[in-house]
Amino acid sequence: MDHLATRAVHAGNDIDPGTGAIRRPLVTANSYALPEDPSELDWSGTGTALYTRNGGSNQRWLERKLVALEDPAGTDTAAVALASGVAALHAVFFTFLRSGDHVVSSDVTYVATHRLLTELLPDRYGITATLVDSSDPGAVRAAIRPETRLVHVETPANPTTRITDVAAVAAIAREAGALCSVDATFATPVLQRPLELGADLVVHSLTKYVNGHGDAMGGAVLGRTGLVERIRADAMVDVGGVISPFNAWLIMRGAVTLPMRMRAHCGGAQVVAEFLESDPRIAYVAYPGLASHPQHELAARTLDGGFGGMLAFALDGDTDLQNRFVAALRIVVSAVSLGHDETLIVHVAAGEKGRAAHFPEPFRRYGHLRLSVGLEDPRDLVTDLSQALDAVLPR
Ligand SMILES: *Cc1c(COP(=O)(O)O)cnc(C)c1O
Repeated sequence: MDHLATRAVHAGNDIDPGTGAIRRPLVTANSYALPEDPSELDWSGTGTALYTRNGGSNQRWLERKLVALEDPAGTDTAAVALASGVAALHAVFFTFLRSGDHVVSSDVTYVATHRLLTELLPDRYGITATLVDSSDPGAVRAAIRPETRLVHVETPANPTTRITDVAAVAAIAREAGALCSVDATFATPVLQRPLELGADLVVHSLTKYVNGHGDAMGGAVLGRTGLVERIRADAMVDVGGVISPFNAWLIMRGAVTLPMRMRAHCGGAQVVAEFLESDPRIAYVAYPGLASHPQHELAARTLDGGFGGMLAFALDGDTDLQNRFVAALRIVVSAVSLGHDETLIVHVAAGEKGRAAHFPEPFRRYGHLRLSVGLEDPRDLVTDLSQALDAVLPR
């Protein structure tokens, strides 16, 4: 199974020994048969089938597929699949940080990551974070302290699409004796495999591209077996954010088409980004595939075969204009989440509290429309965006 598309189809799947079915079944049982003498059993263990919070069949099969996508060389990589992307992020922080520890993090991240690092972990556990522009390795290096245990970056960043040089940041973390974790939800293993670039842990919201159909929630952490088994033992069994069998089953089915879907998302996003950038009624477009993107060169050098399906832009006008534009769209759906088959847009007005203070201009001035380009024909998306623009700003 040399190539990604082949691994995406076959990894984790097998013939079901009970029925001969050539697909993994959905195993909804909470519990598994105990051995005749359970006196030696570790009730908090994850090694033997016992209870779904200690590990379920669909979870394990999904984890095999995720490992095959993230680590083609088949080195010492393991995955733990959890209830959501945020459960996966929390699992990393909970497992590897103690009171008094320090984190260096990208200043632009998913909103829950920002709140965990700037409010919840400092207030409850005395874990502090310095937020930096992680596209500048010098800024990451300068923020390192003797008590820094983790360097966490998100690339491409949600929602600004800023790109971080994972190899450079991972080298800085290693030198400092800290772990490096990468939230690679936007890139997926199709576009970037941070473990190959020296990161210790990679986090995915499986809710997004890996599932790809907007109908299940999940998250995963991958890394060396020793690290991932600590997460499984502490943050899964004893905190409880395990993935449900049905969600694991759905996500495993969705992941089969991830490589071909990502190609379509990238192709569509490039067409849409170029269309928007060419229209004078658009104030700005942030998409790593445009030469105007501040890290376009870095993205071209470090992403495989595309620049992702996510972009952000704004019309040259006020909040009301952005809202009226969204209301005029007919194909594009106004909703949060991303990486679905349908194109999604969300308007985040200028003046969002908290993390938006870290957004660059022109995000702060105009707010932004985050667009997750779906699998529709990009010509229809351009037509839809174009008619909505004409509806609110007639030429
Ligand atoms: C959505 C998202 C998350 C959170 O994932 P959930 O599955 O919604 O918990 C984390 N990181 C990024 C970059 C995301 O886009």
